[in-house]
Amino acid sequence: MTDVVIEPPRSGEPWLLTPGPLTTSHAVKAAMLRDLGSWDADFRAMTAELRARLVALPGPGSEAFTAVPMQGSGSFVVEAMLGTLIPRKAKALVLANGAYGQRAAAALARMGRAAEVLDKGDYLPPRGAELAERLARDAAITHVVAIHCETSSGILNPLAEIAGATAAAGRRLLVDSMSAFGAVELPPGLPFDALVSSANKCIEGVPGFGFALVRRDVLEQAAGAAHSLALDLHAQWAEMERSGQWRYTPPTHAVAAFLQALREHEAEGGVAARGARYAANRDALVAGMRALGFETLLDDRWLSPVITTFFHPADPAFRFTEFYDRMKARGFILYPGKLTVADSFRVGHIGRLDAGVMRAVVEAAAATLGEMGVASAAPAPQALAEKRRAQEELAR
Ligand SMILES: *Cc1c(COP(=O)(O)O)cnc(C)c1O
Repeated sequence: MTDVVIEPPRSGEPWLLTPGPLTTSHAVKAAMLRDLGSWDADFRAMTAELRARLVALPGPGSEAFTAVPMQGSGSFVVEAMLGTLIPRKAKALVLANGAYGQRAAAALARMGRAAEVLDKGDYLPPRGAELAERLARDAAITHVVAIHCETSSGILNPLAEIAGATAAAGRRLLVDSMSAFGAVELPPGLPFDALVSSANKCIEGVPGFGFALVRRDVLEQAAGAAHSLALDLHAQWAEMERSGQWRYTPPTHAVAAFLQALREHEAEGGVAARGARYAANRDALVAGMRALGFETLLDDRWLSPVITTFFHPADPAFRFTEFYDRMKARGFILYPGKLTVADSFRVGHIGRLDAGVMRAVVEAAAATLGEMGVASAAPAPQALAEKRRAQEELAR
């Protein structure tokens, strides 16, 4: 295991406190300074290494899986997973507590797959008991779709509970682990058919493709099932197994960057070390922001190591766009909030960042509030009331 060297961005670009694209290492960026032929043996070897590293990454027990990369942003591989692995006559239950659960449901609707949504609102987690009850009531549901870390609020959903309830009811589980894979450990033996993630999240590559880890026996049965020519995980997999090539033009530079990112992930100490660095980032950020008077949407138990949501200060001198611009001038790109109930903003803590960078974020926030004449970062009473209601519900 090596200590991660955090290098300030070289060309004066700001730190990206966003959940992908994110700040990458210089070596990851430098890996792209090379043109590769997609059919060439060098690139085929890179694709093979990428797939082997992805299968090995979660640790023992992953041999039953195969890795299939897919061109496009993360949503493309979500759509490919849903369309390839949920048969036309099947029925899905989507566990939604934010934008990405809603997007999965929208994708299913668009491709004409029967689906229902267990909608928990902006951030409450779907729990094992209510899932079990829903599955017991509806025998037609064959597949459960879960979001591992719901990046719109930053909540880490209880995946082990969800997988347990799904398996106990004899249904299949598909996971959008986009913003968690590589930083949140999967319990060994967790029962699921497939998960998807993308190059520009916790592995710290650049945007350009996503990937699925799929149980090989499940994928073998999915020939011809996909709704789409291009977004067909089975066809992509079959071509890679046959010729070592991607079906259509691969994002060669993004693949080269991703291989470097995977090597850095391994050198850092794998999932546990990556997760520990991100958790330390979160802890430094949350402690510092709370000391300034900011309030997190979620209690500590539900905070992910990926991104944290803060309520806007109620002080009338606070305007988010001005706060954003001033933080950018100090070298930090923030992320707007996505809640319907209360005004909020988000700070991502993934990417080539450490706790020292997070303390600099807090210092910049303190100075910025001072410049804006914001006396207190405390949120509005309605936001706190909403938070209290949520905590009561969560405690049940
Ligand atoms: C980033 C992300 C996606 C994919 O988003 P794209 O913008 O298509 O890359 C899907 N689900 C979750 C939970 C995400 O965080």
